[in-house]
Amino acid sequence: MPAFNNEKKKLQFLRAMLGTCPLFRAENVKNLLKKQLLSISSSCNKARYSSAPFRLAVIGSGPAGFYTAYHMLKEYPPTLVDMYEALPVPFGLVRYGVAPDHPEVKNVQHRFDEVARDPRYAFIGNVQYGKELKVEDLRAHYDAVVFSYGASQDKPLGIQNENDPIENVFFARAFVGWYNGLPQYRDLQPDLTRTDTAIVIGHGNVALDVSRILLTDTEKLSKTDITEYALEVLRKSQIRNVILVGRRGPLQISFTAKELREMMRIPNTRFHTDFDLLKEEISENSEYVSNNRPLKRLMQILESGISNTIGEKSWTLKFLRSPTEFIVRDDDVNSLRPRNIYAVKFNVNKLEGPPEKRVAVSTGVTEEIEGGLVIKSLGYISVPLDGVPFDEKKGTVPNDRGKVLDLDGNEVPGLYVSGWLKSGARGVIATT
Ligand SMILES: Cc1cc2nc3c(=O)[nH]c(=O)nc-3n(C[C@H](O)[C@H](O)[C@H](O)COP(=O)(O)OP(=O)(O)OC[C@H]3O[C@@H](n4cnc5c(N)ncnc54)[C@H](O)[C@@H]3O)c2cc1C
Repeated sequence: MPAFNNEKKKLQFLRAMLGTCPLFRAENVKNLLKKQLLSISSSCNKARYSSAPFRLAVIGSGPAGFYTAYHMLKEYPPTLVDMYEALPVPFGLVRYGVAPDHPEVKNVQHRFDEVARDPRYAFIGNVQYGKELKVEDLRAHYDAVVFSYGASQDKPLGIQNENDPIENVFFARAFVGWYNGLPQYRDLQPDLTRTDTAIVIGHGNVALDVSRILLTDTEKLSKTDITEYALEVLRKSQIRNVILVGRRGPLQISFTAKELREMMRIPNTRFHTDFDLLKEEISENSEYVSNNRPLKRLMQILESGISNTIGEKSWTLKFLRSPTEFIVRDDDVNSLRPRNIYAVKFNVNKLEGPPEKRVAVSTGVTEEIEGGLVIKSLGYISVPLDGVPFDEKKGTVPNDRGKVLDLDGNEVPGLYVSGWLKSGARGVIATT
């Protein structure tokens, strides 16, 4: 058994193990005393493993963890899966990332529920790999370990006063976690009443999710499973304009067509962008665009936005801007409280290089965009954890088709990796 430093977690682990024991199928494992648990666990383990099962530990219970468990249980029936999860509940970003107005995406949980009902599967929540669990513990008890703990940090902007205490500036992970009920962000308290403009930095789907939630009618949101406390705050929101800012041009957006189209269809909402730049980029790179179907579709959707001219609310796609500084209000300079965000200063860029490798180069010109709420949405990154080789440059665990490699490129026996930790934080559930 892994060495737990917390008695409660040790008992929780034993209960989860017993829940899958072929000898012991008690309805109410949670009522057992510690003494009883310890005494039966060893005989249970013997019986559980008597037909030489393949013991697999999976770290992380997002889509990558569940897909791994699903395929192993299907393809290799003697497998027993123990899935360890840092949070008390499973499903990772499907629960705490996917927007509440996308219930059709969240439905993938039903498939994961089926895996969870398999008697060869056990979920062990509230156990964090790297803290309560180490690779040596796992090696002693399992034939193989699959790391699928995702990408649990935000990419910073890397600007000078980013770490100053400034009110109403959030990472997308925090804001998304807040409206989705992730316990650690429940008390985020974004103030949506003192500004009519939000600035979202980043041109990816998460930036679209956040913007859509800010602009969608709360009557519609109330029919989703958005948290009640977030809905209350959104009901009082004064945000009418959302400006999404990216450092490169229209051909470099990382949206998917479905999400972009959805944004264009928000009722009562105008769309602004630099249509001249859009036209110019498309015509100058016509071959590149026509050979890339998803990009072509995105460009068509953007062009169609020119007719979205009516509405009390608006959203804007601003290109060629890199943030350099947060501007705070001077009027509360003597206050001990964190100061309020007032605007963001950007370098104005130009594009260089071929369309597939376009880089943004500063023109030396700067511009301030005013907004009283700022969401930083540059993407998520994985973190290195004890005992798992990590490629700092790529932000992933080095691997050969999922087999973990050490930093010299040699296979590490028994260790595997899947999901965002394997290939980087990009793509959707279906490609995980
Ligand atoms: C805001 C947002 C919205 C998205 N919306 C969509 C969408 O609409 N449609 C779509 O198809 N895709 C969407 N995606 C992408 C999708 O969520 C990912 O492709 C998918 O979740 C990646 O799966 P994963 O298992 O690698 O990581 P995760 O889902 O992040 O799962 C990792 C799990 O590991 C756990 N963990 C972390 N550290 C530890 C540790 N030390 N010990 C134990 N457990 C740990 C985490 O708590 C988590 O449960 C969205 C992503 C984000 C960020």
